[in-house]
Amino acid sequence: MATYKIAVLPGDGIGQEVTPEARKVLQLVAKATGLGLEFETALIGGSAIDAAGTPLPPATLALCQGAHAILFGAVGGPKWDNLPQEQRPERGLLGIRKELDLFANLRPATCFPMLVDASPLKRSVVEGTDIMVIRELTGGLYFGEPRGREEFADGSARAVNTMAYSSREIERVARAAFDVAMKRRKRLASVDKANVLVVSQLWREVVTRVGKDYPQVQPEHVLVDNCAMALVHKATHFGTNVTEDTFGQLLSDEAAILAGSMGMLPSASLGGKGGRLGLFEPVHGTAPDIAGQGVANPIAAILSASMLLRYSLDRGPDGDRIDAAVLRVLEQGHRTRDIHSAGTKLVGTIEMGDLICREVEKSY
Ligand code: NAD
Repeated sequence: MATYKIAVLPGDGIGQEVTPEARKVLQLVAKATGLGLEFETALIGGSAIDAAGTPLPPATLALCQGAHAILFGAVGGPKWDNLPQEQRPERGLLGIRKELDLFANLRPATCFPMLVDASPLKRSVVEGTDIMVIRELTGGLYFGEPRGREEFADGSARAVNTMAYSSREIERVARAAFDVAMKRRKRLASVDKANVLVVSQLWREVVTRVGKDYPQVQPEHVLVDNCAMALVHKATHFGTNVTEDTFGQLLSDEAAILAGSMGMLPSASLGGKGGRLGLFEPVHGTAPDIAGQGVANPIAAILSASMLLRYSLDRGPDGDRIDAAVLRVLEQGHRTRDIHSAGTKLVGTIEMGDLICREVEKSY
């Protein structure tokens, strides 16, 4: 069986606490299945600034370039907040995304049945939610040219950003989205603003063309404003959604509310090597308010490891076992502090990781 190299970049704050738990689960899967996984850890973000003077040391980038997948924690914290933009911890993550050409961001929003009441939305809206929001990461409004600001003699100013896409950029994210939809409920909503924006009309045209190669998937085109509304009143309508960068940022944050806590949300950024190289990370940050206390919820990181198996190593059934193990541990009533409520059992980061490992082990 092939051996896969996994770059492990815990980063800062609770990244250093939750990433080892995700790695522990992957090691267990490797042991149970004979899958060859080779782990190598490297510095990134604030801890790399402290040790090597830069948020993305060349050795870390080289490790990522040679890896099959990257397991990432989170970067940043108050200690480095006053550094100039170019030297801040976030530059480490942005640098990897750029160098590895990670062009599609995947954020699932799944409502766990036992956490329905943790969502501020009604049970009837959130129950059964299982959406994957895919956001293009390299073009669109954030990176389109021309962009900039001009100042005028009369004291006024003008600023410009441009939402721009080439058909190639749309096609590769559309293919990634159809591939993902094939691994889930075969339903794809392409979200745009084609009634107003010419860039969205091109987006729609290309997605329609790519869709012809995926006759098993049921595609639809949805206007972004309609999608924003539908997410909070008929979320279960959606399976996989694909959209432009800015639209995707807004919609994936909105969808996150459906899932309850920050500590439960995994993500993946795919690209490089024909869309198979991926960076897998929890959506949350370094949580300086709880870092070092052993109370962080490792579930987002562990579900990111499940995505790593599914999307970079094509080991979907192993990912399913991890997802099911998380569900079982929650069903048994174990909770970290962020999702704890009366009548449930409070556990710390490592204990939650151990409980999930035990359930994964039992499943083989
Ligand atoms: P955050 O996600 O770190 O924390 C927000 C709140 O959620 C905090 O109260 C925190 O305690 C809680 N929380 C987050 N994850 C949790 C978990 N796993 N278990 C339990 N509780 C959890 O966001 P923030 O406070 O805005 O940012 C803190 C730092 O993280 C900043 O420096 C920010 O730049 C950085 N950040 C990094 C990333 C990344 O590396 N991808 C993403 C977001 C924020």
